[in-house]
Amino acid sequence: MKDFDVDLFVIGAGSGGVRAARIAAGHGAKVMVAEEFRVGGTCVIRGCVPKKLYVYASRFADAFEDAAGFGWQLPQMPRFGWRALVDAKEREISRLSGLYRLNLEHAGVAIVATRAVLEDRHSVRLADGRVVSARHILVATGARPVLEPAIPGRELAITSNEVFDLEKFPERMVIVGGGYIAVEFASVFARLGTKVTQVMRAENVLRGFDDDMREGVHDALAKAGVKLLFATLPTRIEKADGGLRVGLSNGEEIACEEVMIATGRKPATAGLGLEKAGVELDPLGAVKVDAYSKTNVDSIYAVGDVTNRVNLTPVAIREGHALADTLFGGKPTAVVHTDIPTAVFATPELGTVGLTEHAARAIFAIVDIYTASFRPLKATLSGRAEKTIMKLVVDGETDRVLGVHILGEAAAEMAQLLAIAVKMGARKADFDATMALHPTAAEELVTLGTRAARYEREVLEAGPGAAVAEP
Ligand SMILES: Cc1cc2nc3c(=O)[nH]c(=O)nc-3n(C[C@H](O)[C@H](O)[C@H](O)COP(=O)(O)OP(=O)(O)OC[C@H]3O[C@@H](n4cnc5c(N)ncnc54)[C@H](O)[C@@H]3O)c2cc1C
Repeated sequence: MKDFDVDLFVIGAGSGGVRAARIAAGHGAKVMVAEEFRVGGTCVIRGCVPKKLYVYASRFADAFEDAAGFGWQLPQMPRFGWRALVDAKEREISRLSGLYRLNLEHAGVAIVATRAVLEDRHSVRLADGRVVSARHILVATGARPVLEPAIPGRELAITSNEVFDLEKFPERMVIVGGGYIAVEFASVFARLGTKVTQVMRAENVLRGFDDDMREGVHDALAKAGVKLLFATLPTRIEKADGGLRVGLSNGEEIACEEVMIATGRKPATAGLGLEKAGVELDPLGAVKVDAYSKTNVDSIYAVGDVTNRVNLTPVAIREGHALADTLFGGKPTAVVHTDIPTAVFATPELGTVGLTEHAARAIFAIVDIYTASFRPLKATLSGRAEKTIMKLVVDGETDRVLGVHILGEAAAEMAQLLAIAVKMGARKADFDATMALHPTAAEELVTLGTRAARYEREVLEAGPGAAVAEP
């Protein structure tokens, strides 16, 4: 049998690559991983983790305001310092990146800090010209933000890659896009004090999410002071008055300090040598793979965003783990891409798992919908005009819960746990048979559509001091 330098060469030390490398090494494989930027990848360095830290930062604004309703008197509205947040974030992601590196080293993985491209089906070329031969090659290069639409001056805009480390906190910002990244940053910057205008081609935010939740997020953004412009596109960006000026398709011009383009991400396959190695790509440039993450070339595999299946960190991690088990653990493992919980970390946040009402109606003959929309208990004293919305999508024939959608505090945490029930095939009757935990928002989920649920809502909506009597 032919000898190779390594059993597995991983291109990209992000969520998928790191997990695949570490588990493969644990199975006894000789593994090398190349990373051209920072170990940890998008999620750790400029994605989920720093984003969630900034979301936490943004929510203090609401907490300070709400405190008065609970008897707290703040001497003055506290001031926010952008630099302190950026520095604190940098310390945390550096710590995490270091941990990832350490875990790889402890597992015996060789890390090379360089760009790597495919030379052929069994070899990889490093930036210094060195060629490493590998029995298996894993492409885990992720995705990159696109600067679209291709308008004059787009090079003046930033993407999610740059937004975390802005030198100066922007007083005014235009965010282009209606997807979850655009929504999350609009919510964050508006709460931190930026005057945000969010511009999108679509008629509403968050295409692909449940329509009731989209409405709820739209309302919440507007309440936070985000100016939303639908069916509108930027037409040009130019420098003006020491800042930027954005021309819009509706004829408006907006002056701002930053324009963030968040209109999508593209699989990072350009210039990777995939075509040379004979690897098939789809029309969007994503690597085509089977359920075991194998490409059309026997020795080459791909996991994570570069395959454009479901572009989330836990999915990339699961795919990387499964691949290592398949190749070196004697346990061929396919990844199932259904009922994946996900969240939009706006404020309030959106947590969801399973089918939207729209998707369910396209598949199932009878779809039952259970919804609740209520003022959370905390808002009764804070006075905040906030609504929690919950929705169950149920197969009317089998009673199976097909989807759960929640907009409200801790919705992402709820979605993670509800995903277990949905994955297990829970029926609406199982939800109903579960005792409520009072007082919580989540208890609505086990009383939806019953007389008791209506009663609880009436009590909460009536506000503090409402007579509590069985209806
Ligand atoms: C702003 C933002 C917020 C997000 N929030 C969430 C969230 O809340 N929850 C969630 O689940 N997901 C979130 N995501 C998505 C998540 O970050 C990705 O799904 C995940 O990182 C994909 O992992 P990956 O391993 O496929 O790629 P990545 O983590 O992107 O890793 C790819 C790595 O490959 C390296 N690389 C690329 N080409 C080469 C090369 N030729 N040679 C060497 N190295 C190379 C890159 O530098 C990178 O480090 C977010 C993404 C963004 C941008």
